[in-house]
Amino acid sequence: MNKKDMDTILQKAEVLIEALPYIQNFNRKIIVVKYGGSAMSDDALQKNVIKDVTLLKLVGFKPIIVHGGGSEISSLAKKMGKEAQFVNGLRVTDAETMEIAEMALSKVNKRLVTMVQELGVKAVGISGKDGGLLRVEKKYADGRDIGFVGDVKEVVPKILYDLLEDDFLPIVAPVGLNDQFDAYNINADDAACAIARAVHAEKLAFLTDIEGLYRDMADKSSFISRLTASDADALIAQGLIGGGMLPKLQNCTAAIRDGVNRVHILDGRIPHCLLLEIFTNEGIGTAIIRDGES
Ligand code: ADP
Ligand code: MG
Repeated sequence: MNKKDMDTILQKAEVLIEALPYIQNFNRKIIVVKYGGSAMSDDALQKNVIKDVTLLKLVGFKPIIVHGGGSEISSLAKKMGKEAQFVNGLRVTDAETMEIAEMALSKVNKRLVTMVQELGVKAVGISGKDGGLLRVEKKYADGRDIGFVGDVKEVVPKILYDLLEDDFLPIVAPVGLNDQFDAYNINADDAACAIARAVHAEKLAFLTDIEGLYRDMADKSSFISRLTASDADALIAQGLIGGGMLPKLQNCTAAIRDGVNRVHILDGRIPHCLLLEIFTNEGIGTAIIRDGES
């Protein structure tokens, strides 16, 4: 073997050694991965994300995937002759739209289940209806009734513990039931955060379609690689955070304040962003940390 080949092989070994303390730290710990609608569009990218989560499972972590599906819901609704309507970033969801949403989400859910199983890991796809996982109450947008859109009011995580205990990778669609057992659509960020808090996850990672958080979206040099929960509150209060990043960041601060140890916003478009974040010393994406943590 020549020196160059030998160096390449040694580099690979170094990468594995660098990963060792992280594998030890996270062994048997729960990681909730929110896989966003926007970063799910590309098939090849989806495969990479699923490969990463599957690898986490195989090295001894306990990942749970919570997925979105906004764009799938919109395109299925369009096919059925319904135009999507939003108030404050929340989808106006009448009974028919709710039915369409469940169809679209269940299709996404089973596609992810299939991808994981193709890689030799057992997966089970559920929605928040199953096992009474997600109980919701109606959410209002500035006092306006926007239909079947719910806030999570209670999480009953038993079904997740049971699946993890049996070595399944749970994949959750963001739908829940209210007290009258009507189905409600839930923002997937809200669902992921509620689940992470309920199972005392070690880590909550939001995979989205942007590098992370910007102070000013128009200025790429304003990227924020780490900030405390209070810094995040201040940015939100100054009105600097818009669109889908607003519920995401609010959920990040809620999770970190409620005992989730590590909360990250990662760019789901970067191949293997999850592995890079977890197994290497490189900082990637935006980390939300506790006040006073350095
Ligand atoms: P996901 O499907 O992953 O939930 P969203 O579209 O809901 O993604 O949220 C991410 C989007 O939030 C970004 O693509 C970006 O356009 C928008 N956004 C608004 N303000 C900011 C900000 N200050 N920093 C980063 N992204 C922002
Ligand atoms: Mg979103």
